[in-house]
Amino acid sequence: MAFSLGAQDHVYRSTLFDEQTWLRHGFGTALSNDWPGEVTATLKQTHSDHVHLVEAACASGGELGEGDALVTNAPRTAISIRTADCVPILLADPVHKAVAAIHAGWKGTAKAIVRRAVERMQAEFGSRPQDLIAAIGPAIGECCYEVSADVAAQFPMVELPAHGKPHLNLPAINRRQLEDAGVVAVDVLQACTKCDAGLLHSFRRDGDRSGRMHAVIGILA
Ligand SMILES: [Zn+2]
Repeated sequence: MAFSLGAQDHVYRSTLFDEQTWLRHGFGTALSNDWPGEVTATLKQTHSDHVHLVEAACASGGELGEGDALVTNAPRTAISIRTADCVPILLADPVHKAVAAIHAGWKGTAKAIVRRAVERMQAEFGSRPQDLIAAIGPAIGECCYEVSADVAAQFPMVELPAHGKPHLNLPAINRRQLEDAGVVAVDVLQACTKCDAGLLHSFRRDGDRSGRMHAVIGILA
């Protein structure tokens, strides 16, 4: 498993999804400005664990409500979330042809939003976790994600350092949550948004000047 970075569109794609010709997916970067170039359904993100079901293609796109994950099995429908340090996660069920897009910062991760999305796919589409494929896109790395002791306390599995401030590895925690939910095939991009200033947006690095990167997954037909 690995990621490729598009030479033309500067979009990361997981090779784990290569055989899924019924969908398109990708993690935009700071260089993929006009991507995805199509209407997508998205949400007003609030660092919640709310999962929104998109029941049909929406002609106008835009924010359908508040929440931090979308699931759909509607043909000709693309869903998206936006991040700049938080963890973007895309899921697909090749058996039932259903997909999910998830935004997981530390609050969403503490609430196990990725697990809520898997459960919602089970409930709505009959998805089995062992059939799902997952891609975790560009997020802030453990190298740069220093947090307070209060935030670290939300993650009992994380060992606190003997010296200095704790750091969180949010992509690894989300991967663990997916695996605990029964998802076997998980591709994790090895990157750090704050370290890679040329390619990736980072709120911690750029503050209010930071752009956002779009993670998109859609069912073609
Ligand atoms: Zn870093």
